[in-house]
Amino acid sequence: ESVNLIQTCKLVIAHFSQLSTRKIILHSKEKDNVIQADHSKIKQLLIILLDNALKYSTAPVELHLTKQEEYVQFIIKDYGIGIPQGEVKHVFERFYRIDSSRHRKTGGTGLGLPIAKSIVEEHHGEIRIESHEGAGTEVIVKLPTALSIRNT
Ligand code: ATP
Repeated sequence: ESVNLIQTCKLVIAHFSQLSTRKIILHSKEKDNVIQADHSKIKQLLIILLDNALKYSTAPVELHLTKQEEYVQFIIKDYGIGIPQGEVKHVFERFYRIDSSRHRKTGGTGLGLPIAKSIVEEHHGEIRIESHEGAGTEVIVKLPTALSIRNT
């Protein structure tokens, strides 16, 4: 189905603003931002990534959307606790959580990122994380604009 990404971003941001006063700032200059994708899965993807960004930071979270010829790119950027260097490669593993003492207040199952990754892969996209402990985290998601959902 056709998914208007700006609309979807705004919908998800509105959902979070009902739950808390934390800010999510959308940065996008794109007028044409429609891709072929599964709308509810793209929504779920954004919810997982924004929820993490809010959970592990205190400053406003940024959501950047850019579009190239065949790909759109999301960057979910926070200025929070970051992920220790050696751990970044593990966070896409199921049930993996970094040192539970870091987030007694913020419960979680360790399933968010594995689900995010599977959604991105179903859409033949790419997801990666750049993070610096104590400085913040960027999750970079590239999705093809054309529909190519795998039937698995
Ligand atoms: P949930 O399943 O509710 O999302 P979770 O946040 O523990 O729980 P994941 O989303 O899979 O699970 O993330 C795995 C781990 O990666 C987290 O426990 C956390 O330690 C780390 N992490 C994820 N996103 C961030 C972020 N933006 N900043 C810092 N650490 C993060």
